[in-house]
This record gives sequence, C-alpha cells and structure tokens, in this order.
Amino acid sequence: MEAAHDYTKYHTMPEISAWMDQIEKDNPDVVSSIVYGQTYEKRDIKLLKIGIKSTGVKKAIWMDCGIHAREWISPAFCQHFVKEILNAYKTDPKMNEMFKNMDFYITPVLNMDGYIYSWKDNTTRLWRKSRSPGTGNCTCFGTDLNRNFYANWGMVGISRNCCSEVYNGPTALSESEARAVTDFVGARTDQILCFLTIHSYGQLILIPYGHPNISAPNHDELMEVGLAAASAIKAVHGMDYTVGTSPTVLYPNSGSSRDFARLIGIPYSFTFELRDKGDHGFKLPEDQIKPTCEEAYAGALSIITYVHDKVHGSAVTATATLWTTLLASVVSSAHLL
Ligand SMILES: [Zn+2]
Repeated sequence: MEAAHDYTKYHTMPEISAWMDQIEKDNPDVVSSIVYGQTYEKRDIKLLKIGIKSTGVKKAIWMDCGIHAREWISPAFCQHFVKEILNAYKTDPKMNEMFKNMDFYITPVLNMDGYIYSWKDNTTRLWRKSRSPGTGNCTCFGTDLNRNFYANWGMVGISRNCCSEVYNGPTALSESEARAVTDFVGARTDQILCFLTIHSYGQLILIPYGHPNISAPNHDELMEVGLAAASAIKAVHGMDYTVGTSPTVLYPNSGSSRDFARLIGIPYSFTFELRDKGDHGFKLPEDQIKPTCEEAYAGALSIITYVHDKVHGSAVTATATLWTTLLASVVSSAHLL
C-alpha cells in the first residue's frame, strides 16, 4: 500500500508526476490526462482533464500552476484543488452539476524545468524563469514565461537583457512552454470560459490588463467577480486579498498568460498571487500550505461558480457563496511575483 499523498508538504517534480498518475488511476470515470507540449528540456507538459464524460462539447475552466519556478505554493494549490473538487463532486450537488456541465483543465506544474532547478540546492531555490539558454552573446539562462506570451509583448514591465528576471525572450512565444499553453487554449476559445493562473506572493487577484492604457471590455464585471472572490477568501481565515489590474495594485507588465487569455476572447481571466505579503515570500513555510490552499480554494470556487451560473444558469444554489464586495486596499511590492 502506497503512502497517501501529503497535501501539507511541498513535493518534487517526480512526486507530483507520480501523484498525477495516481489521481488518474484512482478516478477513471472523471479524470484523464493530456500531454499538450514539451518543455525546453524535453519534458512532457501534462494536464489533468476533470469532469463527467459527455458526448457533447463541454465548457471548460483552465487552471495552471508553477509558471514561475520558485512559487512553490502554486503547484501545492493545484494539488489541493484537484483533491477538493474530486471529493466535492460526489457529495456536493453544486460541484456535481459543474462536473456535468464543464471540464477542468489543470496543469499542476507548467514550468517543469524551472521547478526542478529550484529544487536543486539553496543557490537555485529562487529560480523564476524557464531553462532555455540565452541567445546571441548573452550567456544567462531562462526567459520569464509570463512575459513571453503574445499579448502586448515587449511593451511594459519587461527587460531585453537575457540575464534579467523579466527577460521576455528573443521573440514572442520563443518558449515552448508558452507555445504549449497558447496552442491548447487558443484551439478552445469557444470552450474555455475562465482562465486562472496561480502565482505567489502578495495576496492579490489580478485582472487584465498589465498595460496601464488598455482596459478589458468587461473590466467592471471582472472587478466585481474578483472582489467577491476576495470576500470568499477572507471568510475562511481572515486574510486580505487585494483586487485590481496589475498596474493598479502591483506593477505594469506585458506578455502575461492572463492577458493573452483575455485578448483571445476568454471572458474571465485572473491571476492569483497567493500568500504571503512578504514575511516569507517565496519560501512560504509548509505549515501555511493548508490554510493558504483552503482560502484560495474558496476564492477560485467563487469565480468558477459565478462563471458556471452565468452560462448554465443555477439549477443548484451554491451553499457558501456570498456576493459581497470588499474595499480593496492598495499594496505595493518591490519583488517580482
Ligand atoms: Zn509569479
């Protein structure tokens, strides 16, 4: 008998891959997996597709974790999220309804090469980028995958120096990891209703766009949905999350996956920046994994339920969803998240 997966610890890439295999094996009725690309170092990028099988085309929710290597709480959250929804659909009529109407596409670790590198030793723990080599005369490694998408690429909040933490790559979509997401999501724009990309830290819910001069057509609705999620988060352990566009509450950026998703027509696109606000930063202690994931689950569920009900109506009322709003307080951070 294998030891149960410990959701209160950080896991290595081999452990997460084995966990994905086990989840698929344990839940054959509702879980399958799809390889949709390869990393620079030729690892298969795999997502879990979760939902009740249907002959028709279902709507879908996208979630990716671990695009930035050092943000270890992010893959931990994807694991927690998968565990929770797989428990909930059996007992909670609302989740069961959502499993019937939608599929969840969940990538627990997108930047696998970087994540593995961040586990190598103390000197690499804070690695952020991909692991592709610089081009031309530049000898540094890595492109910031969240600056490499085809979404106002290269305009703000980036560097052209390949040694920078926010190097946006030689061209838009130069990185195979960004191309994989672009191809998969881009082929399903009519299907995917909601794009959630999970980062740390700062306790923020970011809406499009990262460019200060561009506004999403449904900006006000995105703010309302984000504020309701922040309220749901606060109700769990009292933590404050701030909601807004990146330039408003963090810093401007371009080439992010969140902005890409909104630009190609996915109506609801959010970046979560999980705990904390800088006390531990990227090295969030393991005793905070559980509470961080519990509250972020409530926030994500708030968004997903809203999106589902808007499209499918609400045959089943969500039990713990309070549509209250919360005044956002502006925080600033000197760190790249
Ligand atoms: Zn990040």
